[in-house]
Amino acid sequence: MSLEGLQPLVEGAGVAGSPLVMAGPCSAETEEQTLSTARQLAMGGVKVFRAGIWKPRTKPGGFEGIGKEGLQWLKRVKEETGMLVATEVAMRRHVEEALEAGVDILWIGARTSANPFAVQEIADALKDSGADVAVLVKNPVNPDLELWIGALERLYNAGIRRLGAIHRGFSFYGKSIYRNPPQWHIPIELHRRLPELPIVVDPSHMGGRRELIAPLCQQALDMKFTGLMIESHCTPDEAWSDKNQQVTPESLRIILSSLVLRNAEQDTESLQQLRQQIDRVDTELLDLYNRRMEISREIGKYKKEHSMPVVQESRYDDLIKSRVASAVQMGMSADFMKTVLQAIHEESVRQQIEILNKN
Ligand code: PEP
Ligand code: MN
Repeated sequence: MSLEGLQPLVEGAGVAGSPLVMAGPCSAETEEQTLSTARQLAMGGVKVFRAGIWKPRTKPGGFEGIGKEGLQWLKRVKEETGMLVATEVAMRRHVEEALEAGVDILWIGARTSANPFAVQEIADALKDSGADVAVLVKNPVNPDLELWIGALERLYNAGIRRLGAIHRGFSFYGKSIYRNPPQWHIPIELHRRLPELPIVVDPSHMGGRRELIAPLCQQALDMKFTGLMIESHCTPDEAWSDKNQQVTPESLRIILSSLVLRNAEQDTESLQQLRQQIDRVDTELLDLYNRRMEISREIGKYKKEHSMPVVQESRYDDLIKSRVASAVQMGMSADFMKTVLQAIHEESVRQQIEILNKN
């Protein structure tokens, strides 16, 4: 797919290295909370206000959004502060009601973009409306780039030209410092496949904790993503949803002002030299891996001739222990070395089994 003819999400925003910032509460809760948050954000220079009106919650019983009534509050935010307003849509009715209320930017949430029927319904509603509205597609909860691109394609095919993606990290099962680990290689690959598509990073849903917002914002800028979508609430500790990850407008202002914008126009000559060194080291590494595999295949032949099992636990354990200890001494992490060795070992075993099965 190619995305010819895309228009900017917001006129003049996200240019010259300064990110497009969208901020606001996870949910619009009351008129007062919505307007008070919006006024403070506007004073801090934020140009796009976000607030969830319909909230798809993982489990029933949580606050599922204020609904249609909240759209009138967004209208007031626009009138009073001049900010553009953005909200999440998950079905045709949401699209129709949001457009009717003059919402400028719609986004499709992570739980919805994982469902092609829902995305198509939204795309059809947008096509029927003929509105020139900006639409952002959050990555699906599961790390599936094709599903993400598929959702973007449905909107593009429906005539949406102010189109963008939001990277909010991916669900996982287990322990992590992140609520939704970023898996940066996925949005980087999205950018490689669709270079003209703006990508906004959402550190709030990625980190799930206030203290992770600033470092994740900086990482997003360092990787040259187009913008940031950050949850901000006038009284975060009292928020009705996602309270651990929301920051006050004042904290947000401090976070934004401490971000370092990287200058794309900088001289890159010394960087190029370092990259050439990396290329050379990688070539050496490939060569070493290949030599290691050759030896491993020799061992495979020996094991076959002597009817020995391919995997020998004690040898494997000793190997991991000694290499990990050396790596740690050199300043690398034990986890990193274990992952590398496990991958190498798996490939060795695969190659030896191939030899074993050969006549
Ligand atoms: C949100 O932006 O408040 C939201 C529900 O996010 P996500 O779809 O990324 O979980
Ligand atoms: Mn939220």
